[in-house]
Amino acid sequence: MAGFDKASRVFIAGHRGLVGSAIHRALIAAGHRNIITRTRAELDLCDGAAVDEFFTAEKPEYVFLAAAKVGGIQANNTQPAAFIHDNLAIQINVIDAAWRHDAEKLLFLGSSCIYPKLAPQPIREEYLLTGELEPTNEAYAIAKIAGLKMCEAYRRQHGFNAIAVMPTNIYGPGDNFDLETGHVLPALIRKAHEAKVSGAAEMAVWGTGNPRREFLHVDDLADATLFCMSRYDDSIALNVGVGDDVTIRELVETVCDVVGFQGALAFDTSKPDGTPRKWLDVGRLAALGWRAKIGLRDGIASTYEWYLEQGGALAAE
Ligand code: GDP
Repeated sequence: MAGFDKASRVFIAGHRGLVGSAIHRALIAAGHRNIITRTRAELDLCDGAAVDEFFTAEKPEYVFLAAAKVGGIQANNTQPAAFIHDNLAIQINVIDAAWRHDAEKLLFLGSSCIYPKLAPQPIREEYLLTGELEPTNEAYAIAKIAGLKMCEAYRRQHGFNAIAVMPTNIYGPGDNFDLETGHVLPALIRKAHEAKVSGAAEMAVWGTGNPRREFLHVDDLADATLFCMSRYDDSIALNVGVGDDVTIRELVETVCDVVGFQGALAFDTSKPDGTPRKWLDVGRLAALGWRAKIGLRDGIASTYEWYLEQGGALAAE
Protein backbone atom coordinates (compact mmCIF):
# COMPACT_ATOMS: atom_id res chain seq x y z
CA MET A 1 0.00 0.00 0.00
CA ALA A 2 1.17 3.47 -0.83
CA GLY A 3 -0.25 4.94 2.38
CA PHE A 4 -2.61 7.89 2.58
CA ASP A 5 -1.97 9.86 -0.59
CA LYS A 6 -3.73 11.77 -3.37
CA ALA A 7 -4.74 8.57 -5.16
CA SER A 8 -6.20 6.84 -2.05
CA ARG A 9 -9.89 5.97 -2.10
CA VAL A 10 -11.18 8.19 0.69
CA PHE A 11 -14.73 8.07 2.04
CA ILE A 12 -16.01 11.04 4.04
CA ALA A 13 -19.04 9.90 6.02
CA GLY A 14 -21.04 13.07 6.65
CA HIS A 15 -19.52 15.30 3.96
CA ARG A 16 -22.43 17.76 4.08
CA GLY A 17 -21.99 18.50 7.78
CA LEU A 18 -19.90 21.22 9.41
CA VAL A 19 -16.86 18.98 9.96
CA GLY A 20 -17.29 16.68 6.95
CA SER A 21 -17.61 19.57 4.51
CA ALA A 22 -14.42 21.13 5.88
CA ILE A 23 -12.59 17.80 5.51
CA HIS A 24 -13.94 17.62 1.95
CA ARG A 25 -12.57 21.10 1.17
CA ALA A 26 -9.22 20.24 2.75
CA LEU A 27 -8.88 16.99 0.77
CA ILE A 28 -9.70 18.75 -2.49
CA ALA A 29 -7.21 21.52 -1.66
CA ALA A 30 -4.56 18.87 -0.93
CA GLY A 31 -5.12 17.36 -4.39
CA HIS A 32 -6.98 14.15 -3.48
CA ARG A 33 -8.49 12.60 -6.59
CA ASN A 34 -10.55 9.70 -5.25
CA ILE A 35 -12.95 11.20 -2.74
CA ILE A 36 -16.13 9.20 -2.20
CA THR A 37 -19.22 10.88 -0.77
CA ARG A 38 -22.88 10.01 -0.33
CA THR A 39 -25.70 12.28 0.72
CA ARG A 40 -28.09 11.08 3.41
CA ALA A 41 -30.72 10.46 0.73
CA GLU A 42 -28.27 8.21 -1.14
CA LEU A 43 -26.99 6.32 1.90
CA ASP A 44 -28.60 6.20 5.34
CA LEU A 45 -25.71 5.47 7.68
CA CYS A 46 -28.15 4.21 10.33
CA ASP A 47 -29.07 1.37 7.92
CA GLY A 48 -26.50 -1.41 8.41
CA ALA A 49 -27.40 -3.36 5.25
CA ALA A 50 -27.13 -0.24 3.10
CA VAL A 51 -23.76 0.67 4.63
CA ASP A 52 -22.49 -2.86 4.01
CA GLU A 53 -23.61 -2.74 0.38
CA PHE A 54 -21.88 0.60 -0.05
CA PHE A 55 -18.57 -0.69 1.37
CA THR A 56 -18.81 -3.84 -0.80
CA ALA A 57 -19.22 -1.71 -3.92
CA GLU A 58 -16.83 1.15 -3.17
CA LYS A 59 -14.10 -0.45 -1.03
CA PRO A 60 -12.85 2.79 0.52
CA GLU A 61 -9.28 2.61 1.83
CA TYR A 62 -9.46 5.57 4.22
CA VAL A 63 -12.58 6.60 6.11
CA PHE A 64 -13.26 9.91 7.85
CA LEU A 65 -16.23 9.23 10.14
CA ALA A 66 -17.58 12.77 10.46
CA ALA A 67 -21.26 11.82 10.31
CA ALA A 68 -23.07 12.34 13.60
CA LYS A 69 -26.22 13.71 15.07
CA VAL A 70 -25.02 16.91 16.73
CA GLY A 71 -26.60 19.92 18.35
CA GLY A 72 -26.32 22.59 21.00
CA ILE A 73 -27.15 22.39 24.67
CA GLN A 74 -30.93 22.58 24.17
CA ALA A 75 -31.16 19.98 21.39
CA ASN A 76 -29.00 17.57 23.38
CA ASN A 77 -31.02 18.15 26.51
CA THR A 78 -34.41 17.59 24.89
CA GLN A 79 -33.73 14.77 22.36
CA PRO A 80 -31.48 12.32 24.25
CA ALA A 81 -33.02 9.25 22.57
CA ALA A 82 -32.25 10.51 19.06
CA PHE A 83 -28.72 11.54 20.07
CA ILE A 84 -27.82 8.17 21.58
CA HIS A 85 -29.59 6.08 18.94
CA ASP A 86 -28.39 7.75 15.76
CA ASN A 87 -24.80 8.15 16.89
CA LEU A 88 -24.48 4.56 18.09
CA ALA A 89 -26.08 3.24 14.89
CA ILE A 90 -23.81 5.28 12.60
CA GLN A 91 -20.68 4.26 14.50
CA ILE A 92 -21.51 0.56 14.69
CA ASN A 93 -22.35 0.40 10.99
CA VAL A 94 -19.44 2.42 9.64
CA ILE A 95 -16.61 1.25 11.92
CA ASP A 96 -17.58 -2.40 11.56
CA ALA A 97 -18.04 -2.21 7.78
CA ALA A 98 -14.71 -0.40 7.35
CA TRP A 99 -12.94 -3.21 9.21
CA ARG A 100 -14.82 -6.05 7.47
CA HIS A 101 -14.19 -4.57 4.04
CA ASP A 102 -10.47 -4.15 4.72
CA ALA A 103 -10.17 -0.38 4.89
CA GLU A 104 -6.59 0.68 5.68
CA LYS A 105 -7.58 3.20 8.31
CA LEU A 106 -10.51 5.00 9.88
CA LEU A 107 -10.57 8.32 11.71
CA PHE A 108 -13.39 8.83 14.21
CA LEU A 109 -14.47 12.23 15.51
CA GLY A 110 -15.14 12.31 19.26
CA SER A 111 -15.89 15.47 21.20
CA SER A 112 -14.64 17.30 24.27
CA CYS A 113 -18.03 16.83 25.97
CA ILE A 114 -17.20 13.19 26.58
CA TYR A 115 -14.86 14.17 29.42
CA PRO A 116 -16.13 14.29 32.99
CA LYS A 117 -18.11 17.44 33.83
CA LEU A 118 -15.67 18.43 36.54
CA ALA A 119 -12.44 17.22 34.96
CA PRO A 120 -9.26 19.07 36.02
CA GLN A 121 -8.34 21.78 33.50
CA PRO A 122 -6.80 21.72 30.98
CA ILE A 123 -8.26 18.31 30.19
CA ARG A 124 -5.74 15.63 29.33
CA GLU A 125 -6.65 12.62 27.20
CA GLU A 126 -6.26 10.26 30.15
CA TYR A 127 -9.09 11.94 32.12
CA LEU A 128 -11.64 10.06 30.01
CA LEU A 129 -13.99 7.98 32.18
CA THR A 130 -12.67 9.31 35.48
CA GLY A 131 -15.89 11.04 36.62
CA GLU A 132 -19.54 11.83 35.96
CA LEU A 133 -20.63 13.38 32.69
CA GLU A 134 -22.42 16.68 32.16
CA PRO A 135 -26.13 15.73 32.27
CA THR A 136 -27.29 18.04 29.43
CA ASN A 137 -25.35 16.04 26.83
CA GLU A 138 -24.88 12.69 28.50
CA ALA A 139 -26.66 10.67 25.78
CA TYR A 140 -24.43 12.11 23.05
CA ALA A 141 -21.33 11.68 25.19
CA ILE A 142 -22.08 8.03 25.98
CA ALA A 143 -22.51 7.31 22.26
CA LYS A 144 -19.23 9.05 21.43
CA ILE A 145 -17.39 7.22 24.23
CA ALA A 146 -18.74 3.96 22.78
CA GLY A 147 -17.34 5.02 19.38
CA LEU A 148 -13.89 5.65 20.85
CA LYS A 149 -13.99 2.34 22.66
CA MET A 150 -15.03 0.60 19.44
CA CYS A 151 -11.97 2.05 17.71
CA GLU A 152 -9.76 0.85 20.56
CA ALA A 153 -11.39 -2.60 20.63
CA TYR A 154 -11.13 -3.14 16.87
CA ARG A 155 -7.48 -2.12 17.01
CA ARG A 156 -6.79 -4.50 19.90
CA GLN A 157 -8.78 -7.51 18.68
CA HIS A 158 -8.47 -7.16 14.91
CA GLY A 159 -5.42 -4.96 14.40
CA PHE A 160 -7.66 -2.44 12.58
CA ASN A 161 -6.02 0.98 12.32
CA ALA A 162 -8.85 3.05 13.79
CA ILE A 163 -7.84 6.38 15.33
CA ALA A 164 -9.90 9.05 17.06
CA VAL A 165 -9.62 12.78 17.67
CA MET A 166 -11.49 14.82 20.26
CA PRO A 167 -12.20 18.30 19.03
CA THR A 168 -13.25 21.09 21.32
CA ASN A 169 -16.26 23.28 20.32
CA ILE A 170 -16.17 23.68 16.54
CA TYR A 171 -17.52 26.58 14.48
CA GLY A 172 -17.20 27.97 10.97
CA PRO A 173 -18.80 27.98 7.52
CA GLY A 174 -21.55 25.39 7.25
CA ASP A 175 -22.54 25.85 10.91
CA ASN A 176 -26.11 25.47 12.16
CA PHE A 177 -27.54 28.94 12.82
CA ASP A 178 -30.85 27.64 14.16
CA LEU A 179 -31.43 29.26 17.55
CA GLU A 180 -33.06 26.22 19.15
CA THR A 181 -30.75 23.45 17.97
CA GLY A 182 -27.44 25.18 17.22
CA HIS A 183 -24.35 25.82 19.34
CA VAL A 184 -23.56 29.07 21.06
CA LEU A 185 -21.22 30.74 18.55
CA PRO A 186 -23.47 30.64 15.46
CA ALA A 187 -26.50 31.43 17.64
CA LEU A 188 -24.81 34.55 18.98
CA ILE A 189 -23.73 35.68 15.50
CA ARG A 190 -27.31 35.39 14.31
CA LYS A 191 -28.78 37.05 17.39
CA ALA A 192 -26.34 39.97 17.22
CA HIS A 193 -26.97 40.38 13.50
CA GLU A 194 -30.75 40.32 13.85
CA ALA A 195 -30.62 42.71 16.82
CA LYS A 196 -28.45 45.12 14.80
CA VAL A 197 -30.67 44.95 11.71
CA SER A 198 -33.90 45.39 13.66
CA GLY A 199 -32.47 48.13 15.88
CA ALA A 200 -33.22 46.15 19.07
CA ALA A 201 -32.04 47.63 22.37
CA GLU A 202 -30.81 44.28 23.71
CA MET A 203 -30.09 40.70 22.78
CA ALA A 204 -30.69 37.56 24.82
CA VAL A 205 -27.79 35.36 25.93
CA TRP A 206 -28.48 32.02 27.60
CA GLY A 207 -27.21 31.23 31.08
CA THR A 208 -24.98 33.39 33.27
CA GLY A 209 -22.22 34.14 30.75
CA ASN A 210 -19.71 32.62 33.16
CA PRO A 211 -19.04 29.19 31.60
CA ARG A 212 -15.81 28.99 29.66
CA ARG A 213 -15.53 27.40 26.22
CA GLU A 214 -12.72 26.83 23.76
CA PHE A 215 -13.53 27.43 20.07
CA LEU A 216 -11.75 25.77 17.16
CA HIS A 217 -12.35 26.83 13.57
CA VAL A 218 -13.52 23.87 11.52
CA ASP A 219 -10.84 24.43 8.87
CA ASP A 220 -8.21 23.99 11.59
CA LEU A 221 -9.94 20.78 12.68
CA ALA A 222 -10.01 19.49 9.10
CA ASP A 223 -6.31 20.23 8.80
CA ALA A 224 -5.69 18.28 12.03
CA THR A 225 -7.67 15.27 10.76
CA LEU A 226 -5.62 15.11 7.54
CA PHE A 227 -2.45 15.43 9.63
CA CYS A 228 -3.55 12.53 11.86
CA MET A 229 -4.67 10.40 8.92
CA SER A 230 -1.14 10.68 7.52
CA ARG A 231 0.89 10.47 10.69
CA TYR A 232 -0.93 9.12 13.72
CA ASP A 233 -1.51 5.41 14.37
CA ASP A 234 -2.28 4.94 18.04
CA SER A 235 -5.24 4.11 20.24
CA ILE A 236 -5.22 7.29 22.38
CA ALA A 237 -7.90 9.69 21.11
CA LEU A 238 -6.04 12.97 20.55
CA ASN A 239 -7.41 16.29 21.81
CA VAL A 240 -7.72 18.98 19.13
CA GLY A 241 -8.11 22.55 20.34
CA VAL A 242 -6.55 25.97 20.25
CA GLY A 243 -4.93 25.96 23.68
CA ASP A 244 -7.05 28.64 25.39
CA ASP A 245 -10.66 29.43 26.16
CA VAL A 246 -12.98 32.39 26.79
CA THR A 247 -16.06 33.02 28.93
CA ILE A 248 -19.41 33.13 27.14
CA ARG A 249 -19.52 36.81 28.11
CA GLU A 250 -16.17 37.45 26.39
CA LEU A 251 -17.38 35.50 23.38
CA VAL A 252 -20.57 37.52 23.03
CA GLU A 253 -18.63 40.77 23.39
CA THR A 254 -16.31 39.77 20.54
CA VAL A 255 -19.26 38.65 18.40
CA CYS A 256 -21.09 41.96 19.00
CA ASP A 257 -17.95 43.88 18.14
CA VAL A 258 -17.44 41.96 14.87
CA VAL A 259 -21.12 42.19 13.90
CA GLY A 260 -21.49 45.80 15.01
CA PHE A 261 -24.29 45.44 17.58
CA GLN A 262 -23.91 47.99 20.35
CA GLY A 263 -26.99 47.30 22.47
CA ALA A 264 -27.25 45.62 25.87
CA LEU A 265 -26.88 41.93 26.75
CA ALA A 266 -29.75 40.23 28.61
CA PHE A 267 -28.55 37.07 30.34
CA ASP A 268 -31.40 34.54 30.59
CA THR A 269 -30.55 32.41 33.60
CA SER A 270 -33.59 30.19 33.10
CA LYS A 271 -31.44 28.50 30.39
CA PRO A 272 -28.76 26.02 31.44
CA ASP A 273 -25.06 26.90 31.68
CA GLY A 274 -23.96 23.34 31.02
CA THR A 275 -20.49 22.29 32.02
CA PRO A 276 -18.49 25.12 33.67
CA ARG A 277 -15.37 24.62 31.57
CA LYS A 278 -13.94 22.21 28.99
CA TRP A 279 -10.51 23.42 28.12
CA LEU A 280 -8.43 20.82 26.32
CA ASP A 281 -4.78 20.09 26.92
CA VAL A 282 -3.42 19.98 23.37
CA GLY A 283 0.16 19.07 24.31
CA ARG A 284 0.08 15.63 22.73
CA LEU A 285 -0.89 16.83 19.26
CA ALA A 286 1.46 19.82 19.57
CA ALA A 287 4.31 17.42 20.34
CA LEU A 288 3.54 15.63 17.06
CA GLY A 289 3.87 18.98 15.27
CA TRP A 290 0.32 20.29 14.79
CA ARG A 291 -1.13 23.60 16.00
CA ALA A 292 -4.31 25.57 15.25
CA LYS A 293 -3.75 28.66 13.10
CA ILE A 294 -7.05 30.58 12.96
CA GLY A 295 -7.58 33.11 15.78
CA LEU A 296 -11.04 33.46 17.32
CA ARG A 297 -11.76 37.00 16.17
CA ASP A 298 -10.69 36.27 12.58
CA GLY A 299 -12.68 33.04 12.62
CA ILE A 300 -15.81 34.82 13.87
CA ALA A 301 -15.40 37.49 11.19
CA SER A 302 -15.11 34.97 8.35
CA THR A 303 -17.99 32.91 9.72
CA TYR A 304 -20.13 36.06 9.89
CA GLU A 305 -19.24 36.80 6.26
CA TRP A 306 -20.28 33.28 5.29
CA TYR A 307 -23.56 33.72 7.18
CA LEU A 308 -24.27 36.95 5.30
CA GLU A 309 -23.47 35.28 1.97
CA GLN A 310 -26.00 32.57 2.78
CA GLY A 311 -28.70 35.19 3.07
CA GLY A 312 -28.46 35.80 6.80
CA ALA A 313 -29.07 39.49 6.17
CA LEU A 314 -32.23 38.79 4.20
CA ALA A 315 -33.47 36.32 6.79
CA ALA A 316 -33.13 38.93 9.48
CA GLU A 317 -34.94 41.68 7.62
P1 GDP B 1 -22.29 23.15 25.19
O1 GDP B 1 -20.89 23.61 24.90
O2 GDP B 1 -22.50 21.68 24.99
O3 GDP B 1 -22.74 23.60 26.55
O4 GDP B 1 -23.27 23.77 24.09
P2 GDP B 1 -23.61 25.24 23.52
O5 GDP B 1 -22.60 25.66 22.53
O6 GDP B 1 -25.03 25.15 23.03
O7 GDP B 1 -23.61 26.21 24.77
C1 GDP B 1 -22.43 26.69 25.35
C2 GDP B 1 -22.74 27.74 26.40
O8 GDP B 1 -23.23 28.93 25.77
C3 GDP B 1 -23.82 27.35 27.43
O9 GDP B 1 -23.40 27.83 28.69
C4 GDP B 1 -25.03 28.10 26.92
O10 GDP B 1 -25.99 28.36 27.95
C5 GDP B 1 -24.38 29.40 26.44
N1 GDP B 1 -25.21 30.19 25.51
C6 GDP B 1 -25.43 31.55 25.61
N2 GDP B 1 -26.26 31.96 24.66
C7 GDP B 1 -26.54 30.89 23.88
C8 GDP B 1 -27.36 30.72 22.72
O11 GDP B 1 -27.97 31.64 22.20
N3 GDP B 1 -27.39 29.46 22.19
C9 GDP B 1 -26.70 28.41 22.73
N4 GDP B 1 -26.77 27.20 22.14
N5 GDP B 1 -25.95 28.53 23.86
C10 GDP B 1 -25.87 29.76 24.42
